[in-house]
Amino acid sequence: MKEILKAFGHVIFKMPLGFVVTLKHLFKKPVTLDYPARKKPMAPRYRGRHYLERYDDGTERCVCCGLCAAACPADAIYMEPEQSENGERRAKMYEINLLRCIFCGFCEEACPEEAIFLGQDYEFSDYQRDSFIWTREQMLVPHPRQDNPFKRIYRRVRRVYGVTDKTK
Ligand code: SF4
Ligand code: SF4
Repeated sequence: MKEILKAFGHVIFKMPLGFVVTLKHLFKKPVTLDYPARKKPMAPRYRGRHYLERYDDGTERCVCCGLCAAACPADAIYMEPEQSENGERRAKMYEINLLRCIFCGFCEEACPEEAIFLGQDYEFSDYQRDSFIWTREQMLVPHPRQDNPFKRIYRRVRRVYGVTDKTK
């Protein structure tokens, strides 16, 4: 009899208390995102996948100078130059091995033409190793970038003031 009364007490007093906790959280703003329908906006200085930019008239900025490859600590960039129809130097082949890349952004910092750019995208996982070799065609933007107007300002500030040495 004592056990039955105890169980009855739980139903009468403790169960409503549990529902109060549930109800309290029911109307709170969720802390999770409905991924992949909704994606988390990344920090402005986040370094994701690489892009090769164009000038406003559509011509490629990259002149295949090789400075990005020289600056790359992971030796992830390979390129071959060619001459365009109007006699300008450009990249015939430009590849980045994303399996080697450490997304340090040194290629972006080294580029005198502001041609290479690490964007905000982070969804490029795959099952095949070959698909992590990104080609010039995959990285070349179809039109001049307009999605993050502040990125260019951040890049200029980094170039002028350098990266803060937090050990000092
Ligand atoms: S991306 Fe920039 S640094 Fe790299 S080869 Fe092209 S112009 Fe030179
Ligand atoms: S982000 Fe760093 S590691 Fe990756 S390609 Fe550029 S320089 Fe190399």
